[in-house]
Amino acid sequence: MTETRRGTVLSGTGGVWRVRTAEGEIVEASLRGRLKKSDYGRREGGAIRRDTVDAAARAVKLAVGDAVQLERDARDESWAIAGIEPRRSRLARRAPGGGWGERVVAANVDQVVVVFAAAKPEPHPRMLDRFLVIAEANELAARIVINKVDLVGEAAAEARFADYARAGYPLHVTSVAERIGLDALRESLAGRSSVLTGPSGVGKSSLLNALFPGLDLRVGAISESVNKGRHTTVGAYAHPLPDGGFVIDTPGLREVGMWSVPSEHVDLLFPEFRPYVSHCRFADCSHVAEPDCAVRAAVERGEVSAARYESYRKLRDELEEASELW
Ligand code: GDP
Ligand code: ZN
Repeated sequence: MTETRRGTVLSGTGGVWRVRTAEGEIVEASLRGRLKKSDYGRREGGAIRRDTVDAAARAVKLAVGDAVQLERDARDESWAIAGIEPRRSRLARRAPGGGWGERVVAANVDQVVVVFAAAKPEPHPRMLDRFLVIAEANELAARIVINKVDLVGEAAAEARFADYARAGYPLHVTSVAERIGLDALRESLAGRSSVLTGPSGVGKSSLLNALFPGLDLRVGAISESVNKGRHTTVGAYAHPLPDGGFVIDTPGLREVGMWSVPSEHVDLLFPEFRPYVSHCRFADCSHVAEPDCAVRAAVERGEVSAARYESYRKLRDELEEASELW
């Protein structure tokens, strides 16, 4: 009988994939050209629909975070990915200007965790807004971490990012240096699959090492050597957490300029605007110049952050320019 396992894809970009089995073993596996029917289809009315996975696997490319079925070759003992389970969520990037070229960066993501530093480097709210919009466009929950609060003080950091807490984003102020906020952040990552992003130098690796001592952050080097000589962009990388869950590092997500979201309904990607948009006089209000705009009125009353509104306008302009170009 063929030996089989279930597992989660940790890294890889098309050739060799590193998969962590449910038992905790890490194996290298290749993707079958033709994926077999799998026993892991969705249960419908008690019966397993064997065609579900088969169709899904054909239509999608494998991504980091995918739950897969492995089979071992009886002769050379090599592992092959024989099936992909349906995804419960995904983080995808779209080529600017449309739905063509959408690429799934990570599958089965529970949340996006955006890390900035309170100082050194100076935080960039516009960039933070871009990350949040990407999460919203993918219908993923987002959480904000402001690290290095030892440099400015907790109260100052909280005040500076109060707009985001008010918009509904969980806000963590942390310091690796002074071990501030680490327990709460660890708890919010444990058992979940989180895409971790943010500019370099803000302390992402330091945070992960402080939160999960023993996490092997240098495994990234392995994926580089695996991919050597292939025409690949740097892929995502999932780090298994000791008590379940993953932290997914996606270098590509940091090139925020490369990401696009649909230019209409950008307003809905700012969650604090949502209660107001249906109260504008015009159903297709852009909240820029129209009379009786409920969003602008809310900004004037101080109910919606002026800085976030400014971000919205900038992003909207950018997306309109981009769609004209395309
Ligand atoms: P990454 O590029 O986001 O992974 O950032 P690193 O983890 O490599 O950290 C960048 C620099 O910031 C290193 O010199 C760290 O020692 C420093 N750093 C990380 N966390 C803190 C912190 O909480 N406070 C201070 N003052 N420095 C920190
Ligand atoms: Zn409006």
